[in-house]
Amino acid sequence: MSQSSSPFKPSASPATWLGVMGGGQLGRMFAHAAQKMGFKVAVLEPALDCPAGQVADQLLSAGYTDSDGLNRLAAQCVAVTTEFENVSAQSLSYLAEKAFVAPAGECVAVAQDRLAEKRFFVECATTSGVFPAAHKEIKTAADIDQIPDDLLPGILKTARLGYDGKGQVRVKTREEVRDAFAAMNGVVCVLEKMLPLAYEISVLAARGADGQAVVYPIAENVHRDGILFTTMVPGPHIGKDAAAKAQAATLAVIEQLGYVGVLCIEFFVLTDGSVVVNEMAPRPHNSGHYTIDACVTSQFAQQVRAMARLPLGDVRQHSPAAMLNILGDIWFEPGADDKTSAPREPAWDKVLAIPGANLHLYGKDVARRARKMGHVTFIAPTMEEAQANLNNACAILGIAP
Ligand code: ADP
Ligand code: MG
Repeated sequence: MSQSSSPFKPSASPATWLGVMGGGQLGRMFAHAAQKMGFKVAVLEPALDCPAGQVADQLLSAGYTDSDGLNRLAAQCVAVTTEFENVSAQSLSYLAEKAFVAPAGECVAVAQDRLAEKRFFVECATTSGVFPAAHKEIKTAADIDQIPDDLLPGILKTARLGYDGKGQVRVKTREEVRDAFAAMNGVVCVLEKMLPLAYEISVLAARGADGQAVVYPIAENVHRDGILFTTMVPGPHIGKDAAAKAQAATLAVIEQLGYVGVLCIEFFVLTDGSVVVNEMAPRPHNSGHYTIDACVTSQFAQQVRAMARLPLGDVRQHSPAAMLNILGDIWFEPGADDKTSAPREPAWDKVLAIPGANLHLYGKDVARRARKMGHVTFIAPTMEEAQANLNNACAILGIAP
């Protein structure tokens, strides 16, 4: 790995290449931002047709642990980042012997495992001022006998590989924990106490190789069926105290990790006003998509700057923003059988007629229910207008507001 702290500047000839592990929509939007600044982008991803591969200057089709693929990526690129947290941390450490890698494999490893993540949050609590939900590790059926009664009702989550509410089951009784754990096929789980949420927020931050950190305005998130539904910035419920607490906690965590890159932390604000840390993503986040259209520097441009050791950009938000996720469900008639009914393209022309609508589609040619196909961010002079325009889009698209 290059030990020099000099930046990797864009260059036309020879081109300066940046690499990304993963070919999903986050890689696609990363590529857009990098190319806008004059970098060329290589994507390592096993799937041949993928959102990031469609726009990358080069798609290296290989598995995330394939040493030949990793060698080619490291040889071509001055710096490498990741677009999803389940890329093997060992692959990132391997790449780091040959190229600058941000975030580091050790940081990604913490975010990959809910138990390691919660341990880390507890270690950080004296400086961050926030704790995760009460929880217990469930490795074997015998661990279920040891659960304190007050952890129920709770949520049983797989320690690894869960996302968008997948790999988690809500449980009310010890019997339900047993059944849910048995259905997880023996993988290590964490049982978390079900908390009374008032609302959910996320804090997006970035830290450069020089240790400079920035934090974006706080986002308020609504989830449906465990999947992000909308993000509002500024959030209609966020109080000054909760905002300050979550932002300070995020800066403490990013500092303690010695992190380089973009990091997003999800928090719960409870009905009594207290703030609880939920989980973190070692990459740009769905709740940060609003930054593309509403901030001076988008989360993807920030990712490029951090990995290229360039100065971080201004995080200032110039317009209120309301982001609506577009899932594959709206390609199908409500309640229709997806196998027999043909998908139909949503009425994008009508959505784009709404003032301040910014449509982002990820290039996925097959729509499936619960699959993230794109998002629309509504920019308006006031949050009320942005929200009203989002509701208008929901009505057009047949989404319950
Ligand atoms: P994922 O990795 O799928 O995003 P999360 O842990 O963030 O998993 O859980 C998804 C959603 O489930 C959260 O955004 C929240 O709405 C709900 N949830 C998760 N944990 C709890 C909890 N302990 N108490 C109440 N709701 C929770
Ligand atoms: Mg989450």
